[in-house]
Amino acid sequence: MTDTSKLIEGRTGQWEVVLGLEVHAQVASNAKLFSGAAVGFGAGPNEQVSLVDAAMPGMLPVINRHCVEQAVKTGLGLKAQINLRSRFDRKNYFYPDLPQGYQISQFKDPIVGEGEVIVERDDGSTFTVRIERLHLEQDAGKSLHDQDPNATYVDLNRAGTALMEIVSRPDMRCAEEAAAYVKKLKTILVYLGTCDGDMDKGNLRADVNVSVCRPGAYEKFRETGDFSHLGTRCEIKNVNSYRYIQQAIEYEARRQIEIIEDGGKIDQETRLFDPGKLETRSMRSKEEAHDYRYFPDPDLLPLELDPAWVEAIKATLPELPDAKKARLQSQYGLTAYDAGVLIGEAAKADFFETAAKGRDAKLTSNWVTNELTAKLSAGNIEIVDSPLGPDAIAELVALIEEGVISSKIAKDVFERMWAGDGRPREIVEKQGLQQVSDTGALDAIIDALIAANPGQASAVKEKPQAIGWFVGQVMKETGGKANPGTVNQLLKAKLGL
Ligand code: ADP
Ligand code: MG
Repeated sequence: MTDTSKLIEGRTGQWEVVLGLEVHAQVASNAKLFSGAAVGFGAGPNEQVSLVDAAMPGMLPVINRHCVEQAVKTGLGLKAQINLRSRFDRKNYFYPDLPQGYQISQFKDPIVGEGEVIVERDDGSTFTVRIERLHLEQDAGKSLHDQDPNATYVDLNRAGTALMEIVSRPDMRCAEEAAAYVKKLKTILVYLGTCDGDMDKGNLRADVNVSVCRPGAYEKFRETGDFSHLGTRCEIKNVNSYRYIQQAIEYEARRQIEIIEDGGKIDQETRLFDPGKLETRSMRSKEEAHDYRYFPDPDLLPLELDPAWVEAIKATLPELPDAKKARLQSQYGLTAYDAGVLIGEAAKADFFETAAKGRDAKLTSNWVTNELTAKLSAGNIEIVDSPLGPDAIAELVALIEEGVISSKIAKDVFERMWAGDGRPREIVEKQGLQQVSDTGALDAIIDALIAANPGQASAVKEKPQAIGWFVGQVMKETGGKANPGTVNQLLKAKLGL
């Protein structure tokens, strides 16, 4: 393992950050985990609440088979242990938006055990985050404090919705790594179709555990597994964007360092991130498992999975991001970086593969990941809704490959394509954008230039790199349409190089 922590300079020396994440992912499902009530965004308050969700006396939970299947699928996608026998427990606490007075969760025996996620950094390198467990649990409802000056309203639409809590080991060492981990996890879930990954709607959110330690301590922890080498952690609840995750970590690490350097100690607590003030604030001191009086839910039998059913689910898994990345690299000769960008979205990789048929793969990948992606994100357009299809990009790439247009002119052509001016070949013909490779036309221009600039011409004989000046002039005269290869050839011949 290489150490990738970023050192933070304190008053008393250097510090490192250690991060472990608990990600809550809402299971993609039409119905809740233990009731048939609908799940969905945008319904009126309390329109999606069954008697089970409202915890009416005598109601009994019934497990939703689809949600279990989604959890198993996710576990398989995380290359994790699937536990054929798991159990639901009651986690007892009081909150107005939790009518049962307890949350049904999994404590001792989760449905999914240890797995791993391989994460790409911005520079294309990767690191591994170990997954400790994934368990199924119910979401709570929502308290609305802003509807009335004197009262709090409760909306139970979300109460009972199935969540997967995915707990990582403390394997991230800086804010960027934590954000990159969530990004990769989200990609995997979206590929699997087990969570829509919509962070704006809170369907994917992270509790971020942060601690700080002196250089070297983390290595000791990894060697021994002994947590006492690490600092005391604080947990920042429900952070729902990559930017907030990073900002919360930066602030929290600094806060902890200052306390320790001032001679204080960190209290293990749960904190909230305030995006307005860019700071974390204490919510409550950390509760321990025993505070919740966990016990097996007597309304639910242990969950027993048939190994054949698990195998059948395995057979339905799509090609996952890591496999797709490896295939794009080997099949098309792409770099790890390019392949990593393309697999960020399955639809983007598909678009590339369709466009790249018979074309230069690297060039096609560049057009998809640079120009096209920039336009799509500026217009907030999904790639599946792109006004330019793979065939249009392929045609543009073909024009470059055939030497009809230069890469520079191709950018103009692309702008016109995006503006709806037509197919690339049409645009090139209509606008007369073809490269001038015709030596006759270029001959005359070059002869005139040499005649008009005898000083430059003799300078080139002394210093051959100075030929660039002539190339530039020819480009200027031809509006960038001269074929640079032909121009160079002609210039060399005429200048006697
Ligand atoms: P709890 O259920 O009380 O939140 P867990 O054992 O489930 O506790 O751990 C929660 C998360 O905290 C895990 O993601 C784990 O990796 C992380 N974690 C544990 N110790 C530390 C630490 N010293 N620094 C940072 N993260 C930590
Ligand atoms: Mg926890």
